[in-house]
Amino acid sequence: MAVHFHEEDLPEGVLAPGPVAVDTETMGLITARDRLCLVQISDGGGDEHLVRFNPGSPYVAPNLAAVLADPARLKLFHFARFDLAAVEHYLGVVAAPVYCTKIASKLVRTYTDRHGLKNLVEELLGVTLSKQQQSSDWGGGDISEAQREYAASDVRYLHRLRAELDRRLEREGRAELAQACFDFLPTRARLDRLGWAEHDIFAHL
Ligand code: MN
Repeated sequence: MAVHFHEEDLPEGVLAPGPVAVDTETMGLITARDRLCLVQISDGGGDEHLVRFNPGSPYVAPNLAAVLADPARLKLFHFARFDLAAVEHYLGVVAAPVYCTKIASKLVRTYTDRHGLKNLVEELLGVTLSKQQQSSDWGGGDISEAQREYAASDVRYLHRLRAELDRRLEREGRAELAQACFDFLPTRARLDRLGWAEHDIFAHL
C-alpha cells in the first residue's frame, strides 16, 4: 500500500481493471476560476495515485483522460457533481459512468443530514479521517506529506463505501433510483458549468 506521486499525467498501466475511485483538488469552488491542481485515483487495491498539474499546465494528460473517459470503467466519487465539472473543464472529458457515494448516502441515510466523506467513512467503515488539509493551498510548488496523505485518503475508502451503500440501497429498494441519479450527474455538472449552478430548472419558479 503506497501513495504514488506523478506530474501532469498518470503513467500507463498502473491501474487494475474495474471501477476506480476519483477525487480532485482545486484552488477553490468556482470551476472556471479555480484551477485543477490534483487528481487522485485508486483501483481499490490499496495504492493511490496522485497526478499534480502545475501552474500554467496545458492539461494534456492522455493516460488519465483515457481512464476517466473509459465507458467500461465505473468512476466512484464523493460529490461527483463538483469533480465532474472540474474534470470536463480542465481535462476535456466526461468522467462517466459515475457512482456518487454522497448521493447514495442521501438516499439511504435519511436519518441524518451528515453526508460528508468523514461522517460516512466513520459510520460505515469505523475509520476516522482527518480533514485538516481540506482547505489547504494545492497550487504550490511542493505538496506536503500531510497534503499527500489527505489527498490519498479521499479516494482510499470509496470502493468499500460503495459496497456498503449498495447493500443499503438494495435493502431500501432504492438502487434503481440511485442509478438514475448517477446517470444524470454528467448533465447536472454541465448545467453548473453553463450557468445553472444555483438555479434549479426543475423548480416551478
Ligand atoms: Mn478531496
